[in-house]
Order: sequence, then C-alpha cells, then structure tokens
Amino acid sequence: MDLSRKIEILAESAKYDVSCSSSGVTNNTRNGTVGSTASAGICHTFTSDGRCVSLLKLLFTNACIFDCHYCINRKSNAIPRATFTPREIADLTMDFYMRNYIEGLFLSSAIIKNVDYTSELLIKTLRILRYEKGFKGYIHVKAIPGADEKLIEELGFLADRMSVNVELPSRESLKLLAPDKDPFALYKPMKQITHKKKELSQFPATQQNNSFVPAGQSTQMIIGASPENDRSIVTIAENLYQKYDLKRVYYSAYIPVNQDSLLPAITTDPPLLREHRLYQADWLMRFYRFSAAEILSEDKPNFNLYLDPKANWAVQNYDQFPVDIQSASYDQLLRIPGIGPKSALNIIKARKYYQLHLTDLKKLGVVVKRAQYFVSCNGVCQSGLINDPEWVISSLISSRQYETLKKANSQSHHEQLALFDVERFETIKNKESKYAY
Ligand code: SF4
Repeated sequence: MDLSRKIEILAESAKYDVSCSSSGVTNNTRNGTVGSTASAGICHTFTSDGRCVSLLKLLFTNACIFDCHYCINRKSNAIPRATFTPREIADLTMDFYMRNYIEGLFLSSAIIKNVDYTSELLIKTLRILRYEKGFKGYIHVKAIPGADEKLIEELGFLADRMSVNVELPSRESLKLLAPDKDPFALYKPMKQITHKKKELSQFPATQQNNSFVPAGQSTQMIIGASPENDRSIVTIAENLYQKYDLKRVYYSAYIPVNQDSLLPAITTDPPLLREHRLYQADWLMRFYRFSAAEILSEDKPNFNLYLDPKANWAVQNYDQFPVDIQSASYDQLLRIPGIGPKSALNIIKARKYYQLHLTDLKKLGVVVKRAQYFVSCNGVCQSGLINDPEWVISSLISSRQYETLKKANSQSHHEQLALFDVERFETIKNKESKYAY
C-alpha cells in the first residue's frame, strides 16, 4: 500500500480522538482559487503560553485487536486497514515540519498484537524523531493502558504531552461497551505519570528532570454513548483534575459510527450542545472555583440546555444575589454571570479609587447585559431576580428559547430543562424583599 493511501486511512481513523481538536473542514480547490484542506490530518492544540500550534494527527495503525462497540476501528468492522512503520511516521513528520505545515505530532494508535508491542512501536517512532532526526517539536502521544510501566516511562521522556483516554464515564459502561479493556488498568498510567512528575520535581531542575511529560497529561470521555448523567461526568472530571493533576479533560459527543444494539440509536445530530455545556462546566471548575456538586445537584443532575451552567447556577441560587460590587470578595464576583477572572480583578482594583456604577462595569470588561440582573451598585439593583427570577431567565435567553423552555418545563418528564427550584423560590418570594430594583 502506498504512503498516501496509508495517510488517508490513518488520518481519517484518528479524527474521532478529540484530545486535540481537528480542524474538521474539507475544502477542495476550485478553479481560480488556491489551497485546500482535509478534515483529518492536521489538528490544533494550545501550548501552556496560549499559542495555538498545528499538529500532524495520525493513528499508527487502525488494525485493532479490540472490539469496542462505539469505535470505527473495532476489529469486527469491515473497513480498510493500514499500519505505518516507525520510520514512515518519523519521515512524514520531518517532511511536514520542514515545509512549515506543522509544529508537532499527535500520535495515537489502535492495539496491534498486544499493548506492549503497540507501545514499543510508538517508542521506536519517537526515538527516531528525537535522537536520530533531532526533532525538538511538540509531540503528543497516547499511553496505552495495560502496557508495562517501563514502556510508559520511556514514552514519557520522549513526548511533551501524554493522554490516556478514559473513553466512558463509568466502569460498568466500559465493561459493556469496551469488553477487551480492563477498567482497572485504565487509571494506572495516569497515576504513574503523576507520581513520576512529582518524584522528579523534588530533584534539581535539570534538563533530564524537566523532560518527563513537560506539557502534562490529558484525557477524553465520549458523551452520550452510555447512560451516565451530566453530574456524574462533571464529578469524574473533577476527580481526574484533583487526583492526577490533568491539564485537560476533553469531551466528545458520541457520533454513531456503528450499528450496535448496545448503543443508543441517535438518529439526529450528535449531542453537541451537551458537549458544549460540559466544556463550560469544565471551565467553571478550572478557572471559576466551582465544584462539580455546585454546578449540578443530585435532584437536577443534567444541564439546562437553554442557560449556560454559570447562569443556571445563579438563577438556582438567587438568594445569594444581588451581589454588591463595591464590597464583594473576588470569589463572589467570580460567581456573577458576565464577570470573569480578569474583570473581577479589574473591579477590585478600580473600586479602591471610586464608587462603581453599572455604567463603569463595561469599561472593566464585564458583560453588563448578563451581569446587570445579579449586581447592585451603590445600593441600587437593576433587576428583580429575587422577586421575578422567571423574568431574569426570559431576559437571558431569546424569547423563542424561553417559550420552548416553558413548554418543556410544563411537561414533567423533561427534567433536564427544569428552570429553578420552585419550592425554594416560593419560600424566598414570601420573604419581604429588601432590594430596590
Ligand atoms: S482499543 Fe477500542 S477504542 Fe481503541 S482503537 Fe481499538 S477498538 Fe477503537
């Protein structure tokens, strides 16, 4: 099989891994135009200093010996199969790098023969790149769960970032949909990487000590192929961040690539809005000091599809608003929809010198059209969140969305769309309102 056919097959097979984001665009050159793109092959990632870099995204092989029900590469699928050699990938990477197409490599693999053999092939590829070709660019490589610890460690010294995909949010789902994978082996490489990094950080910062997975580790979860609710997924992500110090958890809306009775029959689009809400919740945990339990409660374990998780939290907890801009702590400011870490700091700096009014907030980076319902400036609150949360909700979303939401809310089986805790709202509504608005 010639190399370009291999690239076609193995770049296509790699596109379902979202641990770095594929450009996802196919665009053919037409008469009179220049340039074309392929949906798979080049993807992007962000470095710790915020730069976006392009990576050559490939699977080493798609000839998998496992039979995960949700995966296009499962052994029982009749698809074209291909396998690179380590040298082919190293040459391709160098070739693309020299032409300035890419700044690094994202290398994943299906399981060929066994997990150790697959890891050895990845190591061979990275050794050629690093030692023989002197390649100093960014490399993101998959750690294969179940592989020998020595192999994981060697990969860690060759790569910048590693990822171990959790794939499904519970052991039960893994057992059912990925029967060849050992759910207990899955977290072992993550643990090993965390421990090794910690151990090395105690030694002087030599080049060798700094070169073990310097860009940290990440993982990905498939959303919607198994029955876990949003709260369980957010809770797992929180545990992963805390336990293994992950840089990123990626969420991938389940795309039905296989017909299988164990998988949900998704006839419409993949659950992309749910995926989006998960990224928003993830952001709240990483940058806004929210815990998973605050974002979603046990009695309302799924996202409100019409309100983002922060606004949803605010309307559910309207007794904590309005927040006085002049005296609120940094943490309280962060909880206000429309205020981010940077604008919260701007407010804290500016209010030392003068009394802030709503009109000042825009200049400080606040999205006033959202924040106005949740703040009080100089003792004046602009909105009636306490007396009329429904009005606030209807102001935050479009009127069409609000009508759909109200309709869905009146149908008791649509629990995911519940707006707020009616019982609690009634209790607060009956209290005398002390806010002017
Ligand atoms: S191990 Fe499972 S998820 Fe990974 S490539 Fe093979 S079939 Fe797909």
